Amino acid sequence: MKKTVTLLAAALLLAGCGKPGTPPPKGPQPSALPSYQVATGSPVTGSPTLDGARARGHLVVGAKEDQPYLGQKNPATGEYSGFDIEIAKMVGADLGFGPDRIEFRTIASANRETALQNGQVDYYVGTYTINDNRKKLVGFAGPYFLAGQSLLVRKSNKDINGPQDLDGKKVCSAAGSTPYQRIQKQYPKAELIGYDTYSACVDNLITSQVDAVTTDNTILMGYAAKVPDELKVVGPLFSQEPYGIGTPRNDTVLRGALNDALAHHEENGDWKKAYDATLGLSGIPAPTPPPIDRY
Ligand code: GLU
Repeated sequence: MKKTVTLLAAALLLAGCGKPGTPPPKGPQPSALPSYQVATGSPVTGSPTLDGARARGHLVVGAKEDQPYLGQKNPATGEYSGFDIEIAKMVGADLGFGPDRIEFRTIASANRETALQNGQVDYYVGTYTINDNRKKLVGFAGPYFLAGQSLLVRKSNKDINGPQDLDGKKVCSAAGSTPYQRIQKQYPKAELIGYDTYSACVDNLITSQVDAVTTDNTILMGYAAKVPDELKVVGPLFSQEPYGIGTPRNDTVLRGALNDALAHHEENGDWKKAYDATLGLSGIPAPTPPPIDRY
C-alpha cells in the first residue's frame, strides 16, 4: 500500500511541477479564479449550523483532498483548491464568511453522512451525489454540477471499454460511494475492491494490482490528465451523479441559503469562471449548471 501511494503522489507532483520544456497546463491559470464578494453582518438568521459557526468564528467545510481539479490539498501549504473548493468559498461568501474564515476538513466518501450528522462539518462539498437514500440522513443544496460514472484503465488496456466488460476483472472504487454500490448491484461478476480514496485505487491501477477504477468521469478525467502516458478514461457515462452541497438534514434555513447562493453565483458568472479555472482544465468545456432542486 505505502509504496503504491507514493507512486501517484510522485506522478502528481511531477505533473504539477512542470519539467523544463513541458508545455504549461492548458486553459486559465489559478490567477483567473474569481474572488467572491463577502456579505456583511449576519446575512442569514435562524440556522443553528450558522449560529454555531459564528460562535466558533469560522465555518468548517468537509471536502476531498486527493481529487485533481475538484478538491486537492497542497501537502506543503495545507491549502485546498479545485472546483468543489470554489463552490464552498462562493457560497460561504454569501453566508458572511470570507475564505480566511473557512477551514476545510478532509472527509472520505464513506464518512460524509456521519460527519454531517455529528456536526463535524457545517456543510460538505466534495463530488457528493444527491440521492433519496442519502436524503434520509442529510440535506442537499443544489445540484451545482452533473457528472456520470465512467471507467479509468491503463493506457495499454484494450479489453475494457464499458461496464459490460468488467466480469472477472478487478475493479476498484471508494467504499460508500454510489459507483461502488452500482458495480456491486448491477455488475456482480466484477471483482470489486473498496478503498477509502480513489487515489489509493489509482495507485493500484498504475501498479497493475487492479484492472480498472470506477467513479465519476470528473474525478477520473483529473487523474488521467495528470498522468496521460499511463492512464485513460474509457466507455460511456453509465449513471447520473448530480452533485449537491451536503448539509445537516434538519437545517432547512441553511439549505435554502445555500441554494440562493448557488443561484446568485451561477447568474453573476462566478460559477463559470470558477469552473474554467479548475475542472475545465481537465478538458471538459463548461456546461450549463443543472436546475436547482428546492425540495
Ligand atoms: N459522486 C459519487 C458519490 O457521491 C462518487 C464520488 C465520491 O465518492 O465522492 O458517491
